[in-house]
Amino acid sequence: MSSDNNQFETRAIHGGQQPDPSTGAVMPPIYQTSTYIQAEPGEHKGYEYSRTDNPTRTMLQNLLAAMEGGDFALSYSSGMAAIDTLMRLFNPGDHTIVGNDVYGGTYRLFDKVLSRYGLEFTFVDISDLQAIEAAIRPNTKLIWLETPTNPLLSIADIQAVTDMAGDNIKVAVDNTFASPYLQQPLALGADYVIHSTTKYIGGHSDVVGGAIILNDEADYEQLKFLQNAIGAVPGPMDCFLTLRGAKTLHIRMDRHSQNALQIARFLEDQTAVERVYYPGLESHPGHEIAKKQMRDYGGMISIIFKDGEKAARKFASSTKIFALAESLGGVESLIEHPRIMTHASTNDSDFSISPALVRLSVGIEHVDDLLRDIQQALASI
Ligand SMILES: *Cc1c(COP(=O)(O)O)cnc(C)c1O
Repeated sequence: MSSDNNQFETRAIHGGQQPDPSTGAVMPPIYQTSTYIQAEPGEHKGYEYSRTDNPTRTMLQNLLAAMEGGDFALSYSSGMAAIDTLMRLFNPGDHTIVGNDVYGGTYRLFDKVLSRYGLEFTFVDISDLQAIEAAIRPNTKLIWLETPTNPLLSIADIQAVTDMAGDNIKVAVDNTFASPYLQQPLALGADYVIHSTTKYIGGHSDVVGGAIILNDEADYEQLKFLQNAIGAVPGPMDCFLTLRGAKTLHIRMDRHSQNALQIARFLEDQTAVERVYYPGLESHPGHEIAKKQMRDYGGMISIIFKDGEKAARKFASSTKIFALAESLGGVESLIEHPRIMTHASTNDSDFSISPALVRLSVGIEHVDDLLRDIQQALASI
C-alpha cells in the first residue's frame, strides 16, 4: 500500500499480495464461494458472505491500492458501478462539475439517471481551469475529471484543479485512459481515483470491472458500506482475471505508448486527415501539462477526417488488424466511431462528437503491421 516503497513495476506484481497461507499457492486462488463456515453465530475468519467480502477480491483490491499508491481500494462489477457507487457519497442538492468530454456512459449516468435523484451537474471544458472555477457554486461538492478525456484526449491539470478545489470540494479523477502506471492522481492531490479495470488494468478484453482508490479512511468506510449495501461487486473469477492482467500493466503501457506515438506522427502527415488528437504530439494543446503529470502518453488516438463522416466510416470499416469494436485498452488494436458507437448518448447534447471522428485504441502488435494496416485503410477512402 502507500507504505510500500518499491517501484511501480515491483508493486504491480507483488503489491499487497502474499502466497495463499493455507497451501502456499503463489497465485491467488479463485475463491469460488458465496459463503463461509462460522464456528459459532458471528464467529468467522473475516469472511461471511461474498457480497460483503471475498478473498480473491481482497487480493485484487490490495493490488489496486498498491498500484495507485493509495491506502484503500474497492472493486466493483464494472467501471459504471464504481462511478455510481462513488456518487452515492453525495446528497440531493449537491453539485458536481464534470468534463464535457467524459465517457458517454458517465454522461448518461449523470444526466439521465442521477439528475433524477436531485444531484446537480454542470459540464465544462476541464482543460480550462478558469471555466472550472467559474462553474463553482455554494453547493459544489465535487469536481469530476477524466484526463486524458474520451475521445478528444483533452488534458486537465490535476494539480492545479486540486489546489483550486481546496478542502471543501472533492476531486475525482477517472484514470482509465492513463492507467496507474502513467499517472497517479492521488499524489497530485485528488481525493478519489476511478478505473474501468475493463480497459488497461485488465488489459486483455476478457473481463469487465471497476475500482475506486482513495486515502481517506472515513470515505473508505462509507464506500465499503455502500459496496455491500448496493452489491455491484465483481465475482471471484473476474477478480482473478483482472489481477492476472494487471501484473503486466507497465510493459503493456510502454508498448501501447511507443506504438501510438509513431502512429500519431504518421497520421499527422496524411492528407486525408484534418486533425490528430494525441497528447504526446507537440501540436496537442495539453502536451506540456501531460508531460508534467504523465510518464508517457498512452495508447489512445482520435482522428478527424477532412472528408467528414463518409471517410470516417469507410476508414473504420477498412482496417484488418484494428478490429471495429467498442472498448479499449486491450493488447489487440481496436477502432471505433464514437458518434455512432460509444458516445451515442451525447448526440442530443451541445458537446456531441463529430461524425468525422474515429478513435483508435492502439494495441501492442508490431508497429510496422499496424502502420501498414492504417495505410491500406487510408487508401480505401
Ligand atoms: C469504459 C469506461 C468507463 C466505464 O467502464 P465499464 O467498465 O465499461 O463500466 C468509464 N470511464 C472511462 C474513461 C471508460 O473508458
